[in-house]
Amino acid sequence: MKIGVDIDGVIADSLNTWVRELNRHFAQDKKLEDIVFYQFEKIYNVSWEEMDRFFRTNQELLLTNLAPVEQAAEILRRLKDDHDLMLITARPEQYRYLTEKWLREHGIAYDDLVMTNFGDKSCHCKSMDIEIFIEDSLENALSIYQAGIPVILFDAPYNQGPLPKGMLRKKNWQEIYQALINRERKMFPVFPSGRNLVFQEE
Ligand SMILES: [Mg+2]
Repeated sequence: MKIGVDIDGVIADSLNTWVRELNRHFAQDKKLEDIVFYQFEKIYNVSWEEMDRFFRTNQELLLTNLAPVEQAAEILRRLKDDHDLMLITARPEQYRYLTEKWLREHGIAYDDLVMTNFGDKSCHCKSMDIEIFIEDSLENALSIYQAGIPVILFDAPYNQGPLPKGMLRKKNWQEIYQALINRERKMFPVFPSGRNLVFQEE
């Protein structure tokens, strides 16, 4: 299986660090659940340039000082024996060096790393023939799912709400592993691109 995996919020516990540092820098008091999408400039009500400057200036702290999500490294290593692991992140290409360094230092197994520069992930997933994607942003998850790719949503305070039928919400890497291994694709319906989302009860 060709498995697509997001980095921030799925492999790296980025948001706790980012929100803490953003709050400090912009003198605000946002909570994790306030981060409903990844456009931090909108959440903090600052210009894109200002937010970009903040990340550039603090990239070492913000990109290498991150704890890995519990069990992510161990389970990705296990999955890599039988599957292709494609890391697809919205991080811009300029952060490739620090991203690869972090992945190496934390023993994250993967086959390829794609950086979309804040661009839509679903077209990359399509062109790479990703068979299932693991994501924490509800916005990205829905767009990937609407492109016909099954999605596992990594549960987080900021991605609550009903999910479309067939999209799975999993609380940790052990649950994700079980879902992938026990049933593989049989449990994930693949909807054609453009299909209206039908939401299920939580
Ligand atoms: Mg993410």
